[in-house]
Amino acid sequence: MTKLRCRDYGFECPFVAEGHGTKAIEEFGKHTADEHGIEYSKEALMQFLVRQQIPVSETK
Ligand SMILES: [Zn+2]
Repeated sequence: MTKLRCRDYGFECPFVAEGHGTKAIEEFGKHTADEHGIEYSKEALMQFLVRQQIPVSETK
C-alpha cells in the first residue's frame, strides 16, 4: 500500500492519498492540482514515491 501525505510535500493539508502503486499517485496528483493548483508530472510523483518508499530493488 502506498501512501502520499500532502503534509510531507510542504502543504498544510491533511490529505492522504492511499492506494496501490500508481493509484495513489494519480489521486495525489489530482488532489494537488484541484486543491493547490499545482500539477505534478507523473514522473515527479514517482520520484516522491521512490524517495519515500525505499527499496528500489538494488540488484546487488
Ligand atoms: Zn493537499
